[in-house]
Amino acid sequence: MRAVVLHGGGHLAAADVPRPAAGPGELLLRLRGCGLCGSDIAKLADPGARVPAVLGHEVVGDVVEAGDGVRGFGVGDRVVAAHHVPCGACHYCWRGSESMCRAFKESNLDPGGFAEFVRVPAGNVRAATFRVPDHLTDEEASFVEPLACCLRAVERARVQPGDTALPRCLPTRRRSRARRQAGAAPIT
Ligand SMILES: [Zn+2]
Ligand SMILES: [Zn+2]
Repeated sequence: MRAVVLHGGGHLAAADVPRPAAGPGELLLRLRGCGLCGSDIAKLADPGARVPAVLGHEVVGDVVEAGDGVRGFGVGDRVVAAHHVPCGACHYCWRGSESMCRAFKESNLDPGGFAEFVRVPAGNVRAATFRVPDHLTDEEASFVEPLACCLRAVERARVQPGDTALPRCLPTRRRSRARRQAGAAPIT
C-alpha cells in the first residue's frame, strides 16, 4: 500500500509499505481521510523526531477487516479511531492524567494515518473507536480527536458559569463552541 513516510530533516516521501492485517480484536481501516495535527507539524520540524515514521492520527475510515472477537464493529462501518489509549489502572490514570500513562504513550495506530490502510490495535478498538453517524462528513469526523482535546482542556480548566475565560490557540468555531458549553463569558 502507499503511505507518506517522514525521513530525517523533515523530508516526506510517498512510499510502498507493507499493508497491515487485523489480528484478534483488531480492525483494519481503509482510510477516507486524516487531519493534519499541530503535533504532526511539530514532528516535521523536529530534528530529533523518530524516523522513518508515518504520521497522522485524526483518522476516519471504513472497516475492511474485523479480527476474531471484535464486538460492535463490522466490515463496512465508517469509524473514527484515536491513536492512544490509557491502561485505566496506573498511578496517572487513577488521577485523571491519562495522557501521562505509559500505555497511552506506547499505543498507536499502525503505521499511522497518512496511509491507505491503518490497523487499529485491540485496546484502541475497545476504548477509542466510534462509529460515525451519517450526518457527519468525513472532514467533520476527522475533527473528533482534536475536538476531544479541546473539550478535555475546558473540563480540566474547571471553568464555571460566570467565570471570565480567555481561550487561545483554537480555531474560532471550536473555541466559541467549547466556551458556550462551559457557560463562560468571554473577555470583552
Ligand atoms: Zn491531533
Ligand atoms: Zn494508565
